[in-house]
Amino acid sequence: MKPFVHEVRSTRIVFGSGTVSQVRAEVERVGGNRVLLLASKRLDDVARRVGDSLGPSLAARFDGAVMHTPVEVTDQALDVLLSHSADCVVAIGGGSTTGLSKALAARTNVPQVIVPTTYSGSEVTAVLGETKEGRKVTRSAPEIRPETVVYDVDLTLDLPVPLSVTSGVNALAHAVEALYSPQAEPITDVIAVDAVARIARGLRGLAAAPSDVDVRADLLTGAWLAGTCLGSVGMGLHHKLCHTLGGSFGLPHAETHTVVLPHAMAYNAPFAESAMERVAGALGVPDAAAGVFDLVASVGGPTSLRALGFPEEDLPLAVELATSRAYPNPREVTSEGVAVLLSDAWHGRRPAGRR
Ligand code: NAD
Repeated sequence: MKPFVHEVRSTRIVFGSGTVSQVRAEVERVGGNRVLLLASKRLDDVARRVGDSLGPSLAARFDGAVMHTPVEVTDQALDVLLSHSADCVVAIGGGSTTGLSKALAARTNVPQVIVPTTYSGSEVTAVLGETKEGRKVTRSAPEIRPETVVYDVDLTLDLPVPLSVTSGVNALAHAVEALYSPQAEPITDVIAVDAVARIARGLRGLAAAPSDVDVRADLLTGAWLAGTCLGSVGMGLHHKLCHTLGGSFGLPHAETHTVVLPHAMAYNAPFAESAMERVAGALGVPDAAAGVFDLVASVGGPTSLRALGFPEEDLPLAVELATSRAYPNPREVTSEGVAVLLSDAWHGRRPAGRR
């Protein structure tokens, strides 16, 4: 018997096709009267549509969100929020835009309505990672968790396939690590297995039908479910490695997850057999780690740190940084073990796995 704690944490979820038209109603629901709209220039069309629907409630727009939420950018957005007396944030975009919204909520407690356009899952967690003076620091607080998420599948139909693949594997990583988390419990287990199955099905469907609503619905639902796991239980070695490679070496977030995940899984597999069996079952493959590697390769995702431009001579420093502090993981994290893991990831070696 394994004891557990389950806590219900609430974010209102509106999911469907064309749901972006409901943003105004959701803003009213959280009591917003003056909205700061966060959206990058790339998402100008949808930002304009939402802005028009908000009418006089649109107080200002900010389009400067960047990856890893640097505090200098948050300070600029905060100036805009305060100078326009905004009392609500609507964020349209990927994890970077959501991160900026959460950083503003952490400082002002404004309610947030998030419209995700990638599969990062950040929109359903109370976690905020911010970069200050080159270091990424993570914190968690109830006011950081968005009040409402409006998932509109239509906004993801044109998400470029390479980005969809890496973002989808980013989501997959949340579900995989949830299954061997020390806080794993029956509800997150069920959610995680379903998320793995949906994300795998969605990724496999992308090549043939990248704009198919059902393919995209699988990926977006899977991303929400996996994000729910991320928001409920602690993650392990895989997330620590990606955090180090992204935060200290500037590697791109989702791509790094995509390369590292099969290797972190292979490292942990002997100490997380039940979790790996459930992942393999949901993927329909004999071995979970090799199965994820093959899935990534089959959909054209990156499979090596070398391909991401990571210099081989920086591997020892990455090992040192990733092992400098102890953290929960099914298998003991040793410098030697992580050196082998990162070397395999750098070269893009397929995990041996079971046949
Ligand atoms: P991102 O938000 O930077 O988006 C990646 C790229 O995709 C950007 O260039 C963006 O403009 C573009 N893009 C987004 N939607 C698009 C669309 N529909 N069509 C075309 N292009 C589109 O990257 P991400 O991977 O979504 O998020 C990464 C960030 O999120 C990182 O900073 C990471 O730390 C954070 N994150 C946080 C959590 C958390 O719980 N705190 C969880 C996951 C990720």
